[in-house]
Amino acid sequence: MSSDGRAKQLNNIYPGDQFKISLDDNHNLKKIIYKPVSANPMIITYSKKRFRFLTINVQPTAGITHSTIVITKSLNYDAKEFGIEAEIIKLMVDNFSWELDFRRDLSKGDKFILAWNGSDKPLAMIYVGNRRTISLFSYKDAKGKTNYYQVNGKTLNDSFFFAPLKYDRISSGFQKRRFHPIKKTWKSHRGTDFAAPQGRPIYAAAKGIIRHVAVLSGYGNVVYIDHGTHLTTVYAHMARFEKGLRSGHRVSKGQVIGYVGSTGMSTGPHLHYEIRVDGVHKDPEKYSPPKQLNVPQGSMAEFVRVAKEVLAKLNI
Ligand SMILES: [Zn+2]
Repeated sequence: MSSDGRAKQLNNIYPGDQFKISLDDNHNLKKIIYKPVSANPMIITYSKKRFRFLTINVQPTAGITHSTIVITKSLNYDAKEFGIEAEIIKLMVDNFSWELDFRRDLSKGDKFILAWNGSDKPLAMIYVGNRRTISLFSYKDAKGKTNYYQVNGKTLNDSFFFAPLKYDRISSGFQKRRFHPIKKTWKSHRGTDFAAPQGRPIYAAAKGIIRHVAVLSGYGNVVYIDHGTHLTTVYAHMARFEKGLRSGHRVSKGQVIGYVGSTGMSTGPHLHYEIRVDGVHKDPEKYSPPKQLNVPQGSMAEFVRVAKEVLAKLNI
């Protein structure tokens, strides 16, 4: 081991330093991940009776370290190549997907910067793209839960309207089985029907990215909006779409996306509204999506101070 200069680092192991040891299928040593408290992590691999040392590229910046992932293919691919753990990649995707369409918005050369201060989760996650920068900072709330907040103290997700229009009444609720008035068969009704006059505006229930603008036989004129990676809302039977609405567009909460109608399989003007979580239909009358969170007023000054310090240290 002494043949590699980096191995000398192992002569000085301190309390708190972490080792993760992985074995192959034959229980032979495959890899050791060494995470010292005060230096860059190191991956030690063993094959063909040789140890190899790879220091993970994190650059120390006065008290914090940071890793810069440069996009060549996709966040998932490049972060994995860089050695970022799956759990952290998921954290990045869950947060940034509220503002970024990973299929369309990322370009080669865009960067994700993770700033670390010794804990398991990054202190900050920053996207630096051609056109915009999105900076998120960790904050642990009174319940001990860490979330990521913008410098304005708000999480990147959005709170939802209960109903995405001014409706007269709920004409049909979410039901596992109901007798379909047109098909004359028992069928589940996996959304809420809001009765409203023809032509009344329909709003995006929360900010998101338009996934589909489509004309389908059952749903008629229908819009699908993705809100982050887990939530999708569906708006069916529209008379017409708002002009210029295209898939891939970002919409804000309350933005008009179309107008009440009775297109597709429908008996009268209403909005058929669905909420899906990871593809599973939820009852919009009962299910409340997670709300946008705020850093408490009393903690804002300190939160902003740390956020600005991180940005300054990273030259952002
Ligand atoms: Zn319906």
